[in-house]
Amino acid sequence: MQKLLTEIHEYLGITQNYLETNRLSLHEQPPLEMLQIVDIDFEGKPFVLTTQTAKAWLQMRAAALQENIQLMPFSGFRSYLHQKNLIDKHLKNGRPLDDILTHIAIPGFSEHHSGRAIDIHAYGHPTLTEEFENTEEFAWLSKNAARFGFRLSYPRDNPHGIIYEPWHWFYTGS
Ligand SMILES: [Zn+2]
Repeated sequence: MQKLLTEIHEYLGITQNYLETNRLSLHEQPPLEMLQIVDIDFEGKPFVLTTQTAKAWLQMRAAALQENIQLMPFSGFRSYLHQKNLIDKHLKNGRPLDDILTHIAIPGFSEHHSGRAIDIHAYGHPTLTEEFENTEEFAWLSKNAARFGFRLSYPRDNPHGIIYEPWHWFYTGS
């Protein structure tokens, strides 16, 4: 494993035991030239994806819009260091590591590192909650996302040890 990741894991107290029982795959960060800023996300941050994912996302968003469905990007590419900071913030708030890791992947193991994962927000609904499942955006995605090369990564009772995430979609390619 990369030195940077080893250092991050040590910093967060993610021991070998956590890594061995982890059921997620390692994701490399793409080189910068493969990434592009696609939009400004819901929090006002740059929304970054790989060029190929961006193309598929824009096509999918346009198709949805034709049916009056507005897919809003919440987050795309995330670096190893960003992932570390997310976990660190929760640790500093006193949340146990085991609990954090059912919601946030160990740095190195988030699909967001690949620039191919997108968290989608539905306007007028809380962000990143199971409630997304009841939105018309989710209904549209369930019916159409596969056509654009996207799949739901963490369905209910998934084998990856991650909670049900109806908002998180991954570009697998066409
Ligand atoms: Zn996600």
